[in-house]
Amino acid sequence: MRIRFWGTRGSIPVSLTAADIRDKLARALVAASGRRFASFEEAHEYATRELDFSLTHTFGGHTSCVELDTGGPEYFVCDMGSGARPFGAHVLARQGRRPPTVNVFMSHMHWDHIMGFPFFGPAYMPGAKIRIHSCHDACEHAFRLQQAAPCFPVDFDYLSASIEFVRLVPDQPREIAGVTVTPHLQLHAGDSYGFRFEKDGRSAVYTTDSEHKLENFAESADFVDFLRDADVVIFDAMYSMLEAISVKADWGHSSNVVGVELCQMAGARHLVLFHHEPANDDATLLRLLKEARRLEELTRGGRALEITSAFDGMEIEL
Ligand SMILES: [Zn+2]
Ligand SMILES: [Zn+2]
Repeated sequence: MRIRFWGTRGSIPVSLTAADIRDKLARALVAASGRRFASFEEAHEYATRELDFSLTHTFGGHTSCVELDTGGPEYFVCDMGSGARPFGAHVLARQGRRPPTVNVFMSHMHWDHIMGFPFFGPAYMPGAKIRIHSCHDACEHAFRLQQAAPCFPVDFDYLSASIEFVRLVPDQPREIAGVTVTPHLQLHAGDSYGFRFEKDGRSAVYTTDSEHKLENFAESADFVDFLRDADVVIFDAMYSMLEAISVKADWGHSSNVVGVELCQMAGARHLVLFHHEPANDDATLLRLLKEARRLEELTRGGRALEITSAFDGMEIEL
């Protein structure tokens, strides 16, 4: 199983500003002062190998959209945030003229999780099949509503693909194109659902827009079971711990610290911090990642938990 992150930001898409780019460039020039590069390739190699992540990358970008490449002929994707646009371009490029079958899994229908669908190329391809899975009654209504006049020029009914809405039942595993998928209810305004995907003994959990009250033991134990022994957990780490327990308590999101604690309790192998707060710049997101890694080192019981922070374009292999 291979996971590709097409959109990793929460709430609203963001991009680097002109000032951000100037700042990265100036810091890269300082880091490279005294060096000479004979070609673009040499400079590229230096940037790739030696410059800090915060100079050569950005966390981006698009709102929630995460692909699970299971190696089978059908596509699997969690949420249709603005990352659905580049994901759709990837699907069309890979398919050539063959219409794809895309299985979408919706955590919930807040706007940052559906806004990419009107720009999802396969939706406009005759013969393409799109199955939108969710546990919400209002899923189809939300998708139709965002494309209704006067908010969007192309009505949902004009889309050329065959689009089917499939209802999933919480905690009931479903076999979909060779993958076992189990949804699980989460604490969030209007409810959200995490999804656990299992295939060939490997497991990935996508859990975003979910608040955890660790003092509620029953809720934590239930969620730990959902994450149990997962190879990777893509986790809502929108806030720092301080924000999550103070000003932003009850806002329906979680933190890097809670992610570490739940993954440790569950014996998960890899925690991916996800759904980044739009106000946080690259330096802040890097700091939150370092904090989480430090906490993991200090509290490690047995096996180490690998921790990364998702950025648009990141891929991991299970
Ligand atoms: Zn969200
Ligand atoms: Zn939400």
